[in-house]
Amino acid sequence: MAANPESDPYAPLRHAMVETQLRARGIRDERVLAAMERVPRHLFAPSYNYDAAYEDHPVLIAQNQTISQPFMVAAMVQAAEIKPADVVLEVGTGSGYQAAVLAELAAEVFTIERFAALAESAQRNLAHLNYANVVVTIGDGSEGLPQYAPYDAIVVAAAAPRIPQALVEQLREDGRLVIPVGNSEEQQLHLVQKRDGMPFVQPLFGCKFVPLIGRYGFHPAT
Ligand code: SAM
Repeated sequence: MAANPESDPYAPLRHAMVETQLRARGIRDERVLAAMERVPRHLFAPSYNYDAAYEDHPVLIAQNQTISQPFMVAAMVQAAEIKPADVVLEVGTGSGYQAAVLAELAAEVFTIERFAALAESAQRNLAHLNYANVVVTIGDGSEGLPQYAPYDAIVVAAAAPRIPQALVEQLREDGRLVIPVGNSEEQQLHLVQKRDGMPFVQPLFGCKFVPLIGRYGFHPAT
């Protein structure tokens, strides 16, 4: 589990992040707030940028990718309504930070990243913090991760041009999929709930993510 907050000099910055960026902006799920108070976000950022990890914006990591803004992580995870017995898929591991937040809330987390170098460093970050309930994989998450399906919740941390059918298929009945959908400039975060085998789609709010690159995402630049 996460580092001991008593001995963590970043605990005050993290507490301020939770109160001013999350609670004050309407994040109400106490389990999500407590998880984000526990996970040492700075340890997922480049070491020259530890302080920036608690600021109100995404943080640049390797491969020109980002750790999502704290509010966006909280809003996505809250919308996914993760329960303690849930099996969760995260698409877009990046640094491993959001996977750690999910691991605080769920029984098991599978996460998939297209860049091997990011997946490997996320794996190291998560192992260093003793998150034993996260499995990091490398591949095209626009196709989901069928070998571990079905999932109670799927959280996609990159923007798709449309909702990938493969992800809906890998949701359990009553499962929740949270995914940004739109073009490369702007998207809407969507909540998809599977009821009687059918997807019920609810747009939540505007957002801007890096693109989901893959078979059911945007195609890589040639
Ligand atoms: N959740 C991450 C974190 O906490 O650090 C941040 C994710 S970042 C905003 C989006 C990630 O999605 C990038 O690391 C990117 O490489 C990855 N990605 C994009 N397309 C993907 C795909 N088809 N399959 C898996 N990962 C993908």
